[in-house]
Amino acid sequence: MSLDVQCFTVGVFQVNTWLLTDRATGQAALVDTGESDELVRRLQALVPPPDVRTILLTHTHLDHAGALSLLQAVWDVPTVMPRKDRPLFETLPYQGSMFGMPHLDRPAGRIDREVDDGDTVQLGETTLRFFSTPGHTPGQGCWFDDTHLFVGDTLFAGSIGRTDFPLSDPALAVDSLRRLLDLPGHLIVHSGHGPDTTLERELKTNPFLGYLRREKGIQGPPGIRWAPGT
Ligand SMILES: [Zn+2]
Repeated sequence: MSLDVQCFTVGVFQVNTWLLTDRATGQAALVDTGESDELVRRLQALVPPPDVRTILLTHTHLDHAGALSLLQAVWDVPTVMPRKDRPLFETLPYQGSMFGMPHLDRPAGRIDREVDDGDTVQLGETTLRFFSTPGHTPGQGCWFDDTHLFVGDTLFAGSIGRTDFPLSDPALAVDSLRRLLDLPGHLIVHSGHGPDTTLERELKTNPFLGYLRREKGIQGPPGIRWAPGT
């Protein structure tokens, strides 16, 4: 079955949040939240209103998960996060202060389920699979079906997520990107910031994936050496 995908780019960090609607049933999921009430307001303006059944997080940085409690005040639905992001989630109420923006501090909201690599969430007739890609954060992960891949800050068009934050791990990111780029190349990559791309396009052109091109014998630019093993 298939999904309708709508992007809402919100807040001071211009993070991409996503409304996924299962075409067969109309049931909807949100992927990530932004840090402000902008996503709530934009969703409330939709006609007809979305039938939100679950909130899925890619990771728990402020810009991706900071508005969780605001969304849950409107849509009190099961909320899912990567299990390995728990240490970062515990800092969410004061990440605003950590990044010099204490006015963004607020209670973190509620997590109902923690997922590991290979776990699934059912949305109507669509199965969304969780794919763990730690590195940017301890639990950073992706959600995907047969067409769409929501990667948070794992991969961007022409770039990758930063690995210099507290709790980041470049070595994990090297391995995570290697696993991610083994998924089917036709998958549409919906990143946490910036435009959509595909896995195939990034594998051929992304300057941070030169090491994967060498490993796979794919022609393309040699790329940037950004961590040991790349
Ligand atoms: Zn992030």
